[in-house]
Amino acid sequence: MKTKVTNVRLFDGYKLHPDKTMIVFDEKGITVIGKNADGIDADQVIDGEGLTCLPGLMDCHVHLTMDGNPDPFRELSDDSEADGSFRAVVNARKQLEAGVTTVRNVGAQYNIDIALRNAIEKGVIEGPRVLASGKPIVMTGGHGHNMAIEADGVDEIRKAARTQLKAGADLLKLMATGGVMTPNVDPGAAQLDEDELRCACTEASKAGKTTAAHAQGREGIKNAILAGITTIEHGIYLDDELIQMMLTSGTYLVPTLSAPFFIAENGVEGGIPQHAIEKTKIVMEDHKKSFLQAYEAGVKIAAGTDAGTPFNLHGDFPKELELMVEYGMDEVDVLRSATAIAASAMDILKETGSVEEGKRADLLFVEGNPVEEISDVRNVVYVFKNGKCVAKNNEKTPQKV
Ligand SMILES: [Zn+2]
Repeated sequence: MKTKVTNVRLFDGYKLHPDKTMIVFDEKGITVIGKNADGIDADQVIDGEGLTCLPGLMDCHVHLTMDGNPDPFRELSDDSEADGSFRAVVNARKQLEAGVTTVRNVGAQYNIDIALRNAIEKGVIEGPRVLASGKPIVMTGGHGHNMAIEADGVDEIRKAARTQLKAGADLLKLMATGGVMTPNVDPGAAQLDEDELRCACTEASKAGKTTAAHAQGREGIKNAILAGITTIEHGIYLDDELIQMMLTSGTYLVPTLSAPFFIAENGVEGGIPQHAIEKTKIVMEDHKKSFLQAYEAGVKIAAGTDAGTPFNLHGDFPKELELMVEYGMDEVDVLRSATAIAASAMDILKETGSVEEGKRADLLFVEGNPVEEISDVRNVVYVFKNGKCVAKNNEKTPQKV
């Protein structure tokens, strides 16, 4: 079905275009943008007055099998394969409704995210485009071990990496440091060694895939950058040297500001384990500082929420974007980080992530102008994935005559 949207403001993934424009698209992709759309007939025409068209948003760090439970790792330990799968189906739908047409799932027990991706691609269920890591690779007893493959030493890591690639992973998720949610693990402490991380990166790149490292403390971040990791997740303790290294190697930062924000906001009263709250409070200020320092230095930042961690709900991607603005990033840069830069970090920019002729029609239409007021991304009117309307807000859509 061919859709034409007229009179609409456009943020194409890079910048806001000053004049109102027209966009024509179908299931195959975006066919025409601008004046050339004038004489083109379509099956449906939408008056875009008052709306901004953006690339469908992209969240580079989610856990669709987790739903914001105060103690997620405990919940995971009790989970059956089916438990996590049901949650993933519901959460995938919530992401779409919030205008998120692509997510990168970086850690799921039983490789549920890989099966979910396949089910969505086959049209069995509706959800965003999913890039799935399946089970993360961690050292024995490392961060998130109850959903992961434990591996020690280069040979075991190679086996684990190949196992995940064989299972159909789009990327490998590696734990380079401890984390906040796992008991008795120091978030700053290094975990997988540089040679172990490098081995996984080599296996991924041989298969044409990317890598993501959970990396909070300095030493682990350094190991991950040296190993050739694609994206540093969280990056709590950055400094000048690490930032310089990231700039040189082109490493992306996925800050996940929402994760500590919701843990600190909900606290023990919310049922979050004491150990997690204490660790969060220690790291939060450093996290904000590192984010701003990396941004100002020009590190490529791709937006990600860590949705699924305590009170960090699927469908609340706008909160992450608001926090990025609040902590010092310009709106236009925040929107780039949630579209074109995110797509580039996931290595899918050729296909989607910007509004350009020939790209997939993954499009979000919101009321207002999020380049001026970031919270306007909450005013979802239409969400298109591959040219098909997958969500709309009936109160805001024009009534059919
Ligand atoms: Zn995570």
